[in-house]
Amino acid sequence: MTAVDVLVVGAGPAGSTAAERLARHGHSVLVIEEHGRVGYPVQCAGLVSRRVLDLAKAPQVVRRPVHGATVFSPQLKSLSFRAPEPRAFVIDRAGLDIALADRAANAGAAFETETRFDGLVGPPNGSVRAKVTRHGNRPGEIEARIVVGADGVASAVARAFRLRRPVEILPAFEAEFPQSPGDPDLVEVYVGNTISPGLFGWWIPDGAGGARVGVASNADGTPARVYYEHLVAQIGRRFGQPLRNPTGYLVSGIPIGTVPNISGPRIVLVGDAAAQAKPLSGGGIYTGMRAAELAVDVVHEALVDDDLSAARLSRYDESWRREFGEEFDKAQYLRRLFLKFSDTELEAILEALKESGTTETIVAFGDIDFPTHVVRRLLRQSPSLLRLLPKAVGALWGGEGRRAPDLDFVSDRAHQ
Ligand SMILES: Cc1cc2nc3c(=O)[nH]c(=O)nc-3n(C[C@H](O)[C@H](O)[C@H](O)COP(=O)(O)OP(=O)(O)OC[C@H]3O[C@@H](n4cnc5c(N)ncnc54)[C@H](O)[C@@H]3O)c2cc1C
Repeated sequence: MTAVDVLVVGAGPAGSTAAERLARHGHSVLVIEEHGRVGYPVQCAGLVSRRVLDLAKAPQVVRRPVHGATVFSPQLKSLSFRAPEPRAFVIDRAGLDIALADRAANAGAAFETETRFDGLVGPPNGSVRAKVTRHGNRPGEIEARIVVGADGVASAVARAFRLRRPVEILPAFEAEFPQSPGDPDLVEVYVGNTISPGLFGWWIPDGAGGARVGVASNADGTPARVYYEHLVAQIGRRFGQPLRNPTGYLVSGIPIGTVPNISGPRIVLVGDAAAQAKPLSGGGIYTGMRAAELAVDVVHEALVDDDLSAARLSRYDESWRREFGEEFDKAQYLRRLFLKFSDTELEAILEALKESGTTETIVAFGDIDFPTHVVRRLLRQSPSLLRLLPKAVGALWGGEGRRAPDLDFVSDRAHQ
């Protein structure tokens, strides 16, 4: 039986980030990945902030910088904001996963692909014994002092360790269009109850003349593909011509809503397995990678002290909450508010955002990793938005003085 200090389940961005950092600390680390190739199948639109590039140190994965966004109402009224400098980056998502896995392997982590975590042999006691299946049919066991569950939205690890799952998993559907009209500097966001009740649809330039088009919506029983078809029709109306010849469909889910515990005896969860996707956008690459760093700080010292108890590892829950708790709570509150809006109200909110000065505020303070910061500013600034969203005020008013970790453009403007 293989025996290691740390078994990381899942070679996505969160798992490989944790593996690399733990291997650098000198622990023996094994990453298992159920698929045959790290990074595939791609299940992501690949839009990230500069923070991801800084953490990943893999500039080669950038396909295109984007400078802002256009939001479209159900009736195709629009609001655009465009900054002179890049505000987000379209990346080769498979390339990111591969680059992170390479770095982890170079730091000393071992990788086994086509190896699936199936469950535990008995409760964690002195060590963890994980049941795995190799190459589709060969059962095996791996012994580890601790498991890092980085196995994504459906996390078998979370279930095996009896950690509670997120309340909501939004179904998502995306396709790639090798060719598309549209402004390659801006992403497009489509809201509306017939298109994507619960979140939004997106059109993201792929940096090669095409676009990634997808949608995530409430789990209301309607297949995400139905909303995707509505979105593609809407985008066709917006461009005055249909989008043609999609390739590379993906179907997946986005966890929304924090879970009560992201650690327990001999276990920590990171990334989508820990429901760390941002509630207002569903993006989870930055938050998952950062969570992996926070988890590693705690796990490394716990391994050194040989104290892998629930109490010791709960320091990771605390550090996660310190860094992201307030943002996630406020974002969840805003999302619940957003879910109640009719299409008519969404039209009115978009109109209110066109008031003078608001686009400048969005350009100056918009931050895709911490979106509630700009919403708070907009509510202070716009009387008509305040009239439309009175309930948001209480939830967002507090927390003045807390700032997101620096992104150059945000901190520069904030200090002016
Ligand atoms: C349609 C869509 C678009 C998205 N777009 C964006 C975006 O533009 N920007 C953004 O930041 N986020 C986006 N996200 C979210 C983002 O993809 C996730 O938050 C991110 O991938 C989470 O990383 P992770 O490492 O936690 O998990 P994952 O990337 O899901 O990796 C988990 C890994 O674990 C493996 N695995 C699963 N089960 C097992 C098992 N039992 N045994 C072994 N291995 C296993 C999987 O094969 C996978 O490789 C999107 C999500 C969807 C669905």
